[in-house]
Formats: sequence, C-alpha cells, structure tokens
Amino acid sequence: MNTFNQIKISRSALVHNYHICRQAAGGAAIMPLVKADGYGHGMIDCARIFAEQGAAAFGVAEAREGVLLRAAGITQPILVLVGVISDTLRTIVEAGLTPVVTDAAVLPELSRVAGACRTEVGLHIKLDAGMGRQGVLPAEFIDTVQAIRRLPHLRIDGIMAHFPMSDDRQSDNTVLVLDMFLKTTGSSADYGLDRCCLHLANSGGLFYVAGARLDMVRPGIALYGYYPDGADGRKNAVSPLLQPAMRFVTRIIQVRTLEAGRSLGYSHLFTTTRPSRIAVLPVGYEDGYLRVLSNRAQVLIHGQRVPVVGRISMNLTLVDVTDLGREVHPGEEVVLLGSQGEEEITADEIADWMQTISYEVLCLFGNLNARTMVE
Ligand SMILES: *Cc1c(COP(=O)(O)O)cnc(C)c1O
Repeated sequence: MNTFNQIKISRSALVHNYHICRQAAGGAAIMPLVKADGYGHGMIDCARIFAEQGAAAFGVAEAREGVLLRAAGITQPILVLVGVISDTLRTIVEAGLTPVVTDAAVLPELSRVAGACRTEVGLHIKLDAGMGRQGVLPAEFIDTVQAIRRLPHLRIDGIMAHFPMSDDRQSDNTVLVLDMFLKTTGSSADYGLDRCCLHLANSGGLFYVAGARLDMVRPGIALYGYYPDGADGRKNAVSPLLQPAMRFVTRIIQVRTLEAGRSLGYSHLFTTTRPSRIAVLPVGYEDGYLRVLSNRAQVLIHGQRVPVVGRISMNLTLVDVTDLGREVHPGEEVVLLGSQGEEEITADEIADWMQTISYEVLCLFGNLNARTMVE
C-alpha cells in the first residue's frame, strides 16, 4: 500500500443508499451485507453507519468478521453465512453470532457447544431453493427442522434462501426460487415456525422481484451504490438513483515529453504516433488496478478522461495527457474510480473493461488500498 493511492468512502452516499433500500423494502427489516470488509468499503465503519440508520441485523461470511463487529460494539444479530463448521462453533456461540446452518451434520455439535456455554443458540436454516450452491434441499427441510427441535439449546429464528439470478430482470428462475421457498417454508407453520424470520432478497430481489421482500431483505451491492445488473440497472432505475460510495484516487508522480515512435513499458504494448506527453501514475496491479486494464482503461485528470497507454505493471501505470489541452504536474490528483468535475468513471465501466462485475472491482480496489471515510 503506498500513500499516493487512496480509497475515499462517502458516508453520505452510504446513508442515501440505505434510505433507498429502506423505501424499496416497504415494511421489511434490513440486514446489510458487510462481508468482504463491506465490499471493500470498510466493514466496521459501514456497519456503524447502517446501524445508526436502523439496520436490524448484519450479514458476514465468516465468524472472524462477526467477532470484529462485536468488538466494535455492534449489538444487532450478526448472521454468519459461510463456514459454520466444527472449528468455528465455539467462536460463534461465545460471540453471540447467529449461525446459518447449511448442513444438518453440524447440529449435534452446535447443540453441545451451546449447552457447554450455558446458552440457547438462535440459528437460521439456509434452504437451497434453487441456488444450487449450499443449503438444505427442500426434500430434507422438514427432517432438518425436526432434528433441530429434538436437540436441546437450539432455537430456529429464521429460514433463508438465495437467488442465483435475480440481477436478470427477464429471468423466470427468480419466480421459481421464490415459489419453492414459499412452498417449502409454508409447511413450517405446522412445526411451530410461524414466527421465525423469512428472508430471501439480495439487492436484485429487493428491487426487481415483487413478493420477495418477506420479513427481511439482505442488500449488499445496492448499499454501496451499484445496481446488481450494472449500468443497465442504473439506466432503467427510477430516481432517486443509488450513489456510488467509493472513489479511488492517486497522484501524478512524473510527466514526460516523448517524440513520436517511442514504445512504452513492458512488451512495448503502445507506441507513440506523435509527440506525446505521458504522465506516470504510482498504481498498478498490486493495488487491484489489474493488468487487463492495459491500453484499455481511462482515468480522470482535471475533470477530463485520458487513456491508459501500454502495459499496467506491478506499481506503475502510464496515461497519455497530450490531448488534455493544458499542462499537468506531478502531485495533481488522478481519479481512477469516481467523479472529478463533471466526469465520472463508475465501477460498472471498469468492470466492463475488466470483464467482470462491479462487486469484484470494489472488493479489489477497496481491500488493497488505504481507505478513509469522508464527510
Ligand atoms: C452477498 C449476499 C447478499 C447480497 O447480495 P447483493 O447482490 O450484493 O445484494 C445477500 N444474501 C446472501 C446470502 C449473500 O451472500
């Protein structure tokens, strides 16, 4: 991590996005997903901000993250979505985290650990209603519920599932998963589960799937300012729009004047065709500014777009500032992600250049660089 490169997170954008999600949620409770260090935005800061706005619970991937949130003073339920296995049960119970059970095999030991800690553990069951990744299959659901009811020190507080393609507004799959979830959990009233919390909607489910809001919604990407279907989502959204919360800025460290016919950097991927002004940036793939962006990305200097030229290396990137129409100097701000003046480069645009999705861009940039919260 060098000190030229800075991730800046806008607190007001996070608050704004929380309120957009709350509006879309109707009366449903909100469980912000803050895994992957808040999608690169800083788990603890984000959780505190969302807690102040009324978040009902938080979702993390690992027990370790839940322990950090508890140490930071977060008192809401914290659901551990991944890795509720033998090794982590004691940590989960001692920190008062909520295990999401994806496999009934873990239940006897969870019950024993809860007993040893003299507590009752409220758990959520993850149902595989069509995601096809993890969870209890619908055919095994009632058996799992009965297995839990036979064990001491365990209580079922919630039932959840996850959508595999709710970001695709045209997909029929989402309705099938919703139907399967409702059909499977519908029978649970007979088992005394009518008061447990049903939740299914990620950002796509929240915005695009009528009827998926249920008792609680689990937005992630939307809270950080992006639509699950990327630029299309932004284009088709009704205002007020989500506000991207992350900026990634660096500084020019050198400006060079080169004649025509000079080849630049590793593999000589770019050759000047005219007398050129080339600015050197102290950022590279080590900072998540991946090599695939070579000769492809753009950055903002003085509120204008300029192209990345040549190969991005571990710690250096070159941009062609010849057309900028003014002098640039070492020390001046360069925006890799975010806005400057009237121009904006979004994580969706960078994701297109990287052939991925905004989620990956935010995690890479946010978690590989020094980060500060602004406003
Ligand atoms: C990450 C995650 C979410 C949030 O998904 P987004 O598309 O970012 O809104 C919701 N639910 C579960 C189980 C998740 O793992």
